[in-house]
Amino acid sequence: MQLIPSILVTGGAGYIGSHTAVSLAKAGFRVVLLDNYSNSDVKAVHGVRSLINADVPFYEVDCRDKDALIDVFRTEQEMGHEIKGVIHFAALKSVGESVENPSLYEDNNIVGTERLLEVMREFDVENLVFSSSCTVYGEPEVVPVDENAPFLEAESPYGFTKQACEKLIVDHLKPNPEFNAVILRYFNPIGAHPSATIGESPNGVPNNLIPYLCQSVAGIRGALQVFGTDYPTPDGSCIRDYLHVMDLAEAHVSALEYLFKDKLRGKDTGWRAYNLGTGKGASVLEVIEAFEKVTGRSVPYSIAERREGDVVAIWANASRAKDELGWEAKRSLEEALNDSWKWQKKRPDSQ
Ligand code: NAD
Ligand code: UDP
Repeated sequence: MQLIPSILVTGGAGYIGSHTAVSLAKAGFRVVLLDNYSNSDVKAVHGVRSLINADVPFYEVDCRDKDALIDVFRTEQEMGHEIKGVIHFAALKSVGESVENPSLYEDNNIVGTERLLEVMREFDVENLVFSSSCTVYGEPEVVPVDENAPFLEAESPYGFTKQACEKLIVDHLKPNPEFNAVILRYFNPIGAHPSATIGESPNGVPNNLIPYLCQSVAGIRGALQVFGTDYPTPDGSCIRDYLHVMDLAEAHVSALEYLFKDKLRGKDTGWRAYNLGTGKGASVLEVIEAFEKVTGRSVPYSIAERREGDVVAIWANASRAKDELGWEAKRSLEEALNDSWKWQKKRPDSQ
C-alpha cells in the first residue's frame, strides 16, 4: 500500500463529503474529490482546500458517466496516486423530491452506484465506504433501531434507492471476494465545520429541517413549516436522531482505517453495516426550542400538513459502531445547532 493512500470521495463538494474530506486529510489520507455539482458548487471545494491547506484534486464528473469515471481513476494512477479506496456519497437525497420524481432518483442513485462498482472492479479498487441512511429501515417496529432490523417497505423512492444500492454492493461481493465494503447508515446529520468555512449549502429551497430553519431565521425564506403535529409522539411532531456532521465525518475515517486494517478480510461476507447516530431522538418542536435557546434567535414557524414519505419516529442504536469501529458521537445537539447558525450567518446570501 502507498504510504499515503488516495481516497476518492464522490459527492465531495456536498455537505457530508466536504466535511469528511477535511477529516480524512487531517487523518493522513490523500483526498480526491468528484462531484457533478447537481446539489453543490465550487465554493465547498475552495473551503476544503483552505481548511486542508493543500490543492486537493477535483473532478466535475457524473457517477453515471462510466467513461468519465474511468478517466478519473486512470489520471490519478498515471500521476502515481493509485486510488485505494472510495467513499461514495454522490446521490440525490430529498425525500419529497423523490416522491415527485422517482425515476430521477432511481437513475441517479442506483445507476451511479452500479457504474462506480464496475469501474472499481476494472481498477482493482477493493475498499468501499457507502453512504446509506436510516431510511432503509422504513418505519421501524422497535426504536432505537439496530442493524439487524429488517428492511421494511421504504417510505419513499429515496429510501428505496438506498436499499437497492446496499443490495447491489452485497451482490457485487459474491463474485469479487477481495472486495470489502462498510455500509454506513446515517441518521440526521446537522451542524457545520466549527470554523464556518464549510457547511450545508443545498441549491435552491432546502428540503431538510435545519438548513430551512436557518434560512428562515436569517430572513431568506418564509416561516418554517412543521410538517405534522398529529403524530403519535409526545408533542405530536416527528422524532429523529440528529448528529453533528463533524462526528459523522470522523466516522468515515474510522471506517476506512477499519477497512485498511483488513478487518473484514476472511469474514464470510466482506461487508458490514453500521448505524451512525447519537442514540437520542429529538422532535421537530424540541429542535426549534433548542435552537432558540442556544442562539437566542426566535424561529418563525407554523404548523403544516404531514409531509408524504416521512417516518414518525426513529433513532439509532449505534453500539456496533462503538464496539467495532471505536466511533461514537461526541458533540451535542446544541453544539450542532450553534455551528449550523454560525455557518448560516457567514454565508453571503445570509446578509
Ligand atoms: P449533498 O447533496 O450535500 O451531497 C451529495 C453530493 O453528490 C452533491 O454535491 C451532489 O452535487 C453530488 N451528486 C449527486 N448525484 C451525483 C452524481 N450522479 N454524480 C456526481 N455527483 C453527484 O448531500 P449530503 O447530505 O452530503 O449526502 C451525502 C450522502 O449521504 C448521500 O448519499 C445521501 O443520500 C446520504 N445521506 C444523507 C443524509 C442527510 O440527511 N444529509 C442522511 C442519510 C444519508
Ligand atoms: N421537517 C419539517 N419542516 C421542514 C423540513 C423538515 O417539519 O421544512 C421535519 C420532517 O417532517 C422530519 C424532520 O423535520 O420530521 C427531519 O426532516 P429532514 O428532511 O431534515 O430529514 P429526514 O429525516 O426526512 O431525512
